[in-house]
Amino acid sequence: MTEEGALTAKEIIGYSERLLNAVKSELPPQAQVSDVRFEGPFIVVYCKNPEILIYYDELVKNIARKYKLRVIIRTDESVRKPEIEAEEVIYKIIPSDAGISLKPFFNPLTGQVFIKAKKPGLAIGKDGSLRKRILLETGWEPVIKRLPPVNSSIVDYVQEFDRIYYSYISKFLQKVGERIYRTYVLKKNKVRVTVLGSGLEVGGNAFLIETKESKVLIDAGMRLSSEEFFPYFDFLDSTLIDDLDAVVVTHAHLDHVGLVPYLYKYGYRGPVYCTEPTRYLSVLILRDYVKTAVSQGLLTPYSMSDIDEFIKHCITLDYDKVYDIAPDMRLTLYNAGHILGSALVHLHIAEGIHNIVFASDFRFSNTRLLDAATNVFPRVETIFMEATYGGEKDIHPPRHVAENQLVGLIKHAIRNRSKILIPSFAVGRAQELMITLWHIFVELKLVEPIDVYIAGMISEATNVHLACPSFLSRRIQHMILSKDSNPFLAEFFIPVDSPESIPEIANRPQPAIIISTNGMIQGGPILDFLRYMSEDPNNMLVFVSYQAPGTLGRQIQRGAQIVRLVSAEGTRELHIKMAVHSIKGFSGHSDHSELIKFVSEMQPNKPKRVVLIHGDPPKIYELAKKLSTLKFEVLTPGNGDAISLV
Ligand SMILES: [Zn+2]
Ligand SMILES: [Zn+2]
Repeated sequence: MTEEGALTAKEIIGYSERLLNAVKSELPPQAQVSDVRFEGPFIVVYCKNPEILIYYDELVKNIARKYKLRVIIRTDESVRKPEIEAEEVIYKIIPSDAGISLKPFFNPLTGQVFIKAKKPGLAIGKDGSLRKRILLETGWEPVIKRLPPVNSSIVDYVQEFDRIYYSYISKFLQKVGERIYRTYVLKKNKVRVTVLGSGLEVGGNAFLIETKESKVLIDAGMRLSSEEFFPYFDFLDSTLIDDLDAVVVTHAHLDHVGLVPYLYKYGYRGPVYCTEPTRYLSVLILRDYVKTAVSQGLLTPYSMSDIDEFIKHCITLDYDKVYDIAPDMRLTLYNAGHILGSALVHLHIAEGIHNIVFASDFRFSNTRLLDAATNVFPRVETIFMEATYGGEKDIHPPRHVAENQLVGLIKHAIRNRSKILIPSFAVGRAQELMITLWHIFVELKLVEPIDVYIAGMISEATNVHLACPSFLSRRIQHMILSKDSNPFLAEFFIPVDSPESIPEIANRPQPAIIISTNGMIQGGPILDFLRYMSEDPNNMLVFVSYQAPGTLGRQIQRGAQIVRLVSAEGTRELHIKMAVHSIKGFSGHSDHSELIKFVSEMQPNKPKRVVLIHGDPPKIYELAKKLSTLKFEVLTPGNGDAISLV
């Protein structure tokens, strides 16, 4: 920590120029550097000699270590061959048995060409020889990846933005970079966090962090359980929107990312930081949200074009790397084990004056889909932690118990030729269930496989998982990459392609499982399935995830026998005669004991202060009581409360 009044590098006018010059001086003359500039949290060096990229790794690491910066080296645009010519060179160099996809993707923003190959090893060549040849002969840096077994249209949609809006995004990144590395005078700083949403409730996650120099928003989630979408956004008046340095999104659930496009609607043009899968999955669920709401005749707080603005302004970051996002804030994302790409957010503020972790939605034990959240951070003074399952009695049963319960229901369905309907979020729980079913049917052979229908956006969300395998658990990665056996592609998973097929599936006499969105029965194809299935006592409705108060899912889970379905055609009553079960243990959230273990065993130090959020009030208070006995200072703020940390 810097003492008040002491000079730091950042106080000296011309800090950013000095940084750029210092980086430039590290590069050898034969690199033929044409430009060095800020682009978002990176310093990017453009070189006319592509050969320099071959030594890229060592050089970048040295500079990063010396200046604590993230440096990227790219080829200068003038040395990159036109795409058509470059494509021909690529086809000539890579042998046909590598099985490359038809169209390499050229990203003019980064100077990279993405080549997907069935056998990436053959495309890269011995010691990277073919990769090097492509670089030297085309001026494009090849990124060679394994061809996913199915294409993800949402990944393609999002990636196209980098091409179409290339010059806009390039200028935007430079503006962001200049803002991050702006000269500022280090004052005696303060750190204040305002809870805009998810205070004493689940949903509407949003926190504003303010120092004397910068303002950052963590999540801009939608409230799910009441008529009111918005967190306490009155705090975010237009001046504040102009002042925001950054928005950080933890993961692609609507209660965390649902109102990010709303910020763009109201003029925000700054960056959103998140992981790569979070960018794809967010776009998927946000577009689906608008589409579904419009089809039900409901008003939405923003439109598709505002979602497109989010895509343009999104900067994706890796786990475990430190990035400057404001003059006095450094951000690191860590695996949260909740859904694909979900992150715990670590903020290192004002040269270490305070370190905060935001842990909203994480699982501190391995699931079939993902590895457990990390609880090793450089340093933490305050943690904001979810309490969704914070109650003393919220102990998830061991996995095998939950899985046995599911096996029991499947056996029952086979015996009675009945069907199991499982409401699920498209992202996360659905894929966890798919992997679990594969494990039960194929690995353990506990029961004969039956048809598993996948309805709503689940298939497309699964394709994003296949496009980003490095974010899956090490076990699944190993299976997909080295054993060539992909659980998601098992033949018993059948996508429901059109709503017209729903009555036929719902009325088939064979046993089957149907996994359908939405997870809390608030909309989506689950409503149609329910219409056809609810009155048959032979059918089963099985909840595997949290049902928020005020949702149809919660009503049915609590035993409501008559419920109202609201759709574009009007309101209708539905009699729930099917059997209703809840299975705990498939959760993407930590339970009471995992939450306690997570903070108590945090490395290298335990946080002094725990701020509980994202939970119903009784759960928050029970967890607070327990943590107080363990000598933590515990806070339980409501929405609108501001906490001064320094
Ligand atoms: Zn979540
Ligand atoms: Zn959440």
